Amino acid sequence: MNVVETLAWAARLPEDVWIAYAFSKDPLSGRISAKERRRLFDGAARCGIACSHEAARRYRSRDPHELARDMGVNVAYSDREAGGIVPVFAQFVPPDAITLFARCIEKAARLFEENSATVLNGISVENILLAHELFHWIEEQQKDVLFTRKEKITLWQKPFPHKAAVSCLSEIAGMAFAQELLGLAFCPFALDLLLAYTTDKGMSQNIYCYLKTLEGNSSKKEEERVCR
Ligand SMILES: [Zn+2]
Repeated sequence: MNVVETLAWAARLPEDVWIAYAFSKDPLSGRISAKERRRLFDGAARCGIACSHEAARRYRSRDPHELARDMGVNVAYSDREAGGIVPVFAQFVPPDAITLFARCIEKAARLFEENSATVLNGISVENILLAHELFHWIEEQQKDVLFTRKEKITLWQKPFPHKAAVSCLSEIAGMAFAQELLGLAFCPFALDLLLAYTTDKGMSQNIYCYLKTLEGNSSKKEEERVCR
């Protein structure tokens, strides 16, 4: 598969796959039932979508750079490659700083250009990443009210009930925010595969294999539903 075909495949993956993928990154993942994951995923996605509508209404723009300016968020470019096990293309540092890692973003943009990938429909990788980070800023402003911060799961009841936040909810909402704001036709989690490809081909291969497994599990579940 080439880049275009791979992204087209990832873009068509069913939501079940993205639920499993998003929760696989959460340390509490194993303690959350499939039904609860679905509820949390839906709640976080609705939260991100509602925030995108509110931002577009309040600031009269869907352009992430214009939104950042009007929100008072400082957007800076960095030439360094962000360290860490997972390649980072953009990051939000509270209270109001977003860094876009230009070298990584350019590599990704070039990959799409060289392959004439039309799946993005003219939307730039940079804008998708910036939109996602803007959601994290909004979250900081509304941490007491947003689903992604308020929602907690009970880890144990005895001797005293203990609840914990689910960190992947912020990522799910950030993706839904970017998708809705920019009118992207697919879940931006799909971009992970190609963003990783630009910096670490081994990691991209791992993500691909993992998504393939999740796709297989999802279609098995679908067959079981049909057979019942
Ligand atoms: Zn994020």
